[in-house]
Amino acid sequence: MKNREQGAPAQASADADATPVNELLRRLESVKATGPSRWAARCPAHDDRSPSLSVRECGDGTVLLHCFAGCPAGDVLAAVGLDLADLFPNKSLGRGPMRQGERWIPRDVLAAIASEAVVVLVAADTIRRGEALTDDDVERVAVAAARLRNAAREGGANV
Ligand SMILES: [Zn+2]
Repeated sequence: MKNREQGAPAQASADADATPVNELLRRLESVKATGPSRWAARCPAHDDRSPSLSVRECGDGTVLLHCFAGCPAGDVLAAVGLDLADLFPNKSLGRGPMRQGERWIPRDVLAAIASEAVVVLVAADTIRRGEALTDDDVERVAVAAARLRNAAREGGANV
């Protein structure tokens, strides 16, 4: 799934820095820190003269991307050899990866999915009412996406 042929080559010594945001930033050009856990860079998906790509790292390591010219996040990532899965940290939230012999408990996972779906529903309803989501709201939706993905992975899905 991951394409490491394009962009900067992976460095064996960079394991400690191999967070999703570092993996992305080192493939971008004209990267500038604009605040804590925030950066601006030239968008690799369009002919970008001024840095119009905004990058933000959430507390759990999930990366949020926004191109002010309107490029979809998938296009931005594809241009540097990454995909949407690369925006999420590998470690699951709350629960670590299953140890050998540990049983997967579907009830816990389904309960997590149900509560994260409510977060997404609340955000969708806010938008429907014509209200803007705050940065914190968007970050919470990103956490929901990461948790839903982790739940799917615990169930054995390769997502
Ligand atoms: Zn763009």
